[in-house]
Amino acid sequence: MKVQLLGTGASDGIPAIFTESRVNRYALDHGGKDRRTRSSALIDDHLKVDFGPDTWIQVVENKVDPSEWSAVLMTHSHEDHLDRSEFQYFLYPFTEREFMPFPIYANQTVADKLWERYPEWPLEIVVTRSYCPFEHQGYTITPIKANHKLDEDSQNLIFQRDGVTFLYGTDTGYWQDETWEFLTDFSLDGLVIECTEGLHRTSYYGHMDLKECVELVQRLRSSGILRPDAQVITTHHAHTGDLTHAELEEALRPYRMVPGFDGMAIEVMSVSGRQ
Ligand SMILES: [Zn+2]
Ligand SMILES: [Zn+2]
Repeated sequence: MKVQLLGTGASDGIPAIFTESRVNRYALDHGGKDRRTRSSALIDDHLKVDFGPDTWIQVVENKVDPSEWSAVLMTHSHEDHLDRSEFQYFLYPFTEREFMPFPIYANQTVADKLWERYPEWPLEIVVTRSYCPFEHQGYTITPIKANHKLDEDSQNLIFQRDGVTFLYGTDTGYWQDETWEFLTDFSLDGLVIECTEGLHRTSYYGHMDLKECVELVQRLRSSGILRPDAQVITTHHAHTGDLTHAELEEALRPYRMVPGFDGMAIEVMSVSGRQ
């Protein structure tokens, strides 16, 4: 299973343009892996996860072909993940299309927001619920409940196909007990997980700092949910975490974790080596 990270930044990206910090300054001066657009991913070139305000630049810079997308899967309604206005450019009069070429899988809150913005439009929105798996083109996709924006069913997503199990968790928080219990049935071959707050924990419950992120990964490993040799990549980094990409690499290395960067692509393999 191919996983491409189109964006690996938190809500205001790096550099955050309306404030100053050491990490912002470094990203402005050096670019490259230190520049992070808002978090988004693409699975096997056709499952698009989230639809944020940086969609345009991510498609252009990564030479992504949206005509190949078979679905857009939404995690929650925070505006770094859901930019409703971008959807209009798929359809007439911006294109010749009269129907959206793919379904949008989304929780009830995101679905309501889309229908509010486009009440008459020919959208196919499939409402998803945590712990209720659904099938899409040979994939089993299982949303699990994030400990994040709890006034809606905020989700992290497990993708399974051909013996490969991959969890994409941006905006997770440290999961509550019900999510941990549900996960005991899974054996993850790959994990992308948020490390939003880096070295500076904030009072917001819905994100993890470096310490919590490492704790969560170690708990996944020790409980057998995450295979020992599974790739673990971090995402959704905020400049306030005070870690450049190189510093993140160093901080995560002892735990066999790697910081993600915009454009990064990995192959998640099953135990038997099938993809
Ligand atoms: Zn976010
Ligand atoms: Zn969020």
